[in-house]
Amino acid sequence: MRYEDMEFENLRNVYQCIADLPGGLSRAGVAKNLSLSRTAVSLIVSSLISARLVSEGTNPIDTGRGRPGLPLLIDDSYWRVVGAALDVGKWQFVICDLSGNIVRSFEHLADVSSPSLMEDALIDGIKRIQAEYGDVLIPGIGIGVPGIVDTTKGDLLFAFDQSWLDSFNISERVRKETGMKAYVMNRHTLEGVSEFRYANPEKIRDMIYIGVGSGIRSAIFSDGKLMQGAHFSAGRISHLQVNPNGRQCSCGRYGCLITEANSFALHDYVIELLSAGDEASVLRGHEGELTTSMIIQAADSGDAVAAAAVRRVATALAKVICMVADVVDPRKVVIGGPVGTSDSLVVFVNASLDDYYSKSVLPFGRFRASKASIASFSAAHGGAFLVLQDVIPLMLSLIRSSRNRIDL
Ligand SMILES: [Zn+2]
Repeated sequence: MRYEDMEFENLRNVYQCIADLPGGLSRAGVAKNLSLSRTAVSLIVSSLISARLVSEGTNPIDTGRGRPGLPLLIDDSYWRVVGAALDVGKWQFVICDLSGNIVRSFEHLADVSSPSLMEDALIDGIKRIQAEYGDVLIPGIGIGVPGIVDTTKGDLLFAFDQSWLDSFNISERVRKETGMKAYVMNRHTLEGVSEFRYANPEKIRDMIYIGVGSGIRSAIFSDGKLMQGAHFSAGRISHLQVNPNGRQCSCGRYGCLITEANSFALHDYVIELLSAGDEASVLRGHEGELTTSMIIQAADSGDAVAAAAVRRVATALAKVICMVADVVDPRKVVIGGPVGTSDSLVVFVNASLDDYYSKSVLPFGRFRASKASIASFSAAHGGAFLVLQDVIPLMLSLIRSSRNRIDL
């Protein structure tokens, strides 16, 4: 390894060590954790402080040995990172501090009738942020999009639910037009990243997140790492078959999870139930203007028709949760996305899981599904986390492009 590479690795490791345990370690503590000399760590910390990436707390940490040192913190006062995710007809943006706290969020309307128009709106949104935040932006952006994404190249390979069937690149255009390095990932996967990173106080390392909207996708974390797969398809559960006699799917088969449990299926179930009987429902008479949130709100307030539709979705989801859980052995399963905001959905899923596990041999401790805790802007927030993982290399690229301004 070259000397500069070692220096870079040390810089990155010291920063990561402080980010993993903010306020918990002094310079001496970091040196001990990384088996580096105190002098080397002290020099690195001084440059991180002068670059406003790290700050020192005021109350010394007494470890019982030697002179107490000041706790090292991530400096949240200066640099900002950006995350973005495509939602229905709009881009959602978040601007975060270096600890990942959202300091601002906004939406930017997007025409998604073609990939290039969708990208136009993304570039517009980034330029709006650059105009306002200019010099304090870390030059990276995490971007959540529908479909299957080659995360190494930043290519969206295809997104059936948007009818984008040909591969196109996102990261290169973002780099050319804004100078930002783009980290592109499936938006449901990013919601999972957000849930795993920001709403996991127990720091559970084996978790399945399932995002349910017009698309359905899971993010599987095994021993703390997101599974991506050889072709970026890990966690693609939407074409697991849950009902051989079900409706035909766009893939040609019948009864795939996506045809039985996405937001369109939920709408269809409500229409079917309303036309099959004359049961009272707040949704009756609104058949032409049904939205996912209307149905969920009705179900959660006890409307029998809406609840029956949500239960059908839940039963299909629970089947797949059991299949995936039997393979990956999670400690926690979290359901999110627009359909996943329903409390009754989670109750029905758990009832189905109880039913399944009461008839099968349990190879591990029982888990219950829970509702995602971060509802709005969560995919964009997950995007910001991808940037935060790469702060040091991004800072170095910024220094190279503006040599005299910052020193690290
Ligand atoms: Zn299918």
